[in-house]
Amino acid sequence: MSPLATVEDHLAHVLDAVRPLPAETVDTADARGRVLVEPAHAAIDLPPFDNSAMDGFAVRAADVAGATLAAPVRLTVAGDLPAGTAEDPPLSPGQAIRIMTGAPMPAMADAIVPFEDTLGGLADSLGEIAVTAAPVVGAHRRRRGEDTRRGDAVLAAGVRLGPLQLGALAAAGVARLTVSQRPRVVVVATGSELVPLGEPLRRGQIPESNGTMLAALAAEAGAFVVRRESVDDEGSALASLLAEVTTGEDAADAVVFSGGVSAGAYEVVRTTVSQMRFGGVAMQPGKPQGFGVAGRTLLFGLPGNPVSSAVSFEVFVRPALLAMQGATELRRRRLRLPAGAGWRTPPGRRQYLPIVIDRTDPAAWKAVPASSGGSHLAGRLGGAEAYAIVPAEVTAVSAGDLVDVMLLD
Ligand code: AMP
Ligand code: MG
Repeated sequence: MSPLATVEDHLAHVLDAVRPLPAETVDTADARGRVLVEPAHAAIDLPPFDNSAMDGFAVRAADVAGATLAAPVRLTVAGDLPAGTAEDPPLSPGQAIRIMTGAPMPAMADAIVPFEDTLGGLADSLGEIAVTAAPVVGAHRRRRGEDTRRGDAVLAAGVRLGPLQLGALAAAGVARLTVSQRPRVVVVATGSELVPLGEPLRRGQIPESNGTMLAALAAEAGAFVVRRESVDDEGSALASLLAEVTTGEDAADAVVFSGGVSAGAYEVVRTTVSQMRFGGVAMQPGKPQGFGVAGRTLLFGLPGNPVSSAVSFEVFVRPALLAMQGATELRRRRLRLPAGAGWRTPPGRRQYLPIVIDRTDPAAWKAVPASSGGSHLAGRLGGAEAYAIVPAEVTAVSAGDLVDVMLLD
């Protein structure tokens, strides 16, 4: 029996085959989940102009120096600046301008007195006000460009765009972005026992579930799932499907197969897909893995047990899909947590155990197995929020041991 490949070696082999996808330009508003292939530069200064950080009054600090609650300083309100105004009213000695948060700072003012530091109402404060606290020069004034300057890189190439990144780009006036095209992925479930979801089952049949899961995982990794199929273990359907999705103009960037890769009989992927090599990887679950390239299409042969499929996708397919898009960070976020219970782990194989995080003690979260670790326990997988990753040489985890945890969102 050939020795098992390490996870690192198999992943490196996969990533070696990855070619970057072409770039395209998209509206920032539509770019969630996309990966920047060029740095994004601010189109404007942020803020674009000096403005007020508070609802209050724009003043000259010198006019109200020494103001206290016991000895307020009176000012005449000479104007009103709501957010959005373009006005820049003049300010004579003894005057204030009412101003709302985000309105442009009058050029002649040098400080903001918040409403809270004045006597009198908020709404009807257009006559006279009494200032009860002296502001320093620059008080509550937001400076043009203090956040980001026009031309500064807001985000680097390789960043994957989430809501906060999109917010930052939009604030900096960046309307269009150069991002990677999305990988076009085909998901193929194999198995003569599989029945489309929702159809009645006779003895021996199960609902096809990996396809649903893998398509969702692919979409979450930024891919566009162009096709989903379920084929039997007989081989001819698989062969013609493979030819269809790996050739021509619109060949897929990746095909993800589930099932049919291990060493039993009826292993349809193993016997049909000649472009793939099959072997064992020192991990549990997910030992049997197939990988290959057909034209420009990466072919992933994942084991069919649902937990094995999910873990294999995490460990090999997701990094490859992100790498195609030029992402800098191919790994999920990780934590180190104490185990909340002990469990066994196979010698010589790195374990990926679905876990939940016990947050009972907010100061001491714990990693607790979501299931016994059986790779068929698909229902339990639904409760998992992370995988504990236990090194190959470890054979047992005891309660309290620190374990690496890969968060799934
Ligand atoms: P295989 O890797 O084809 O030997 O399948 C291993 C186990 O996973 C078997 O119990 C299969 O019934 C199950 N399985 C394979 N593919 C799927 C699928 N698409 N959905 C649900 N279970 C599957
Ligand atoms: Mg099968």
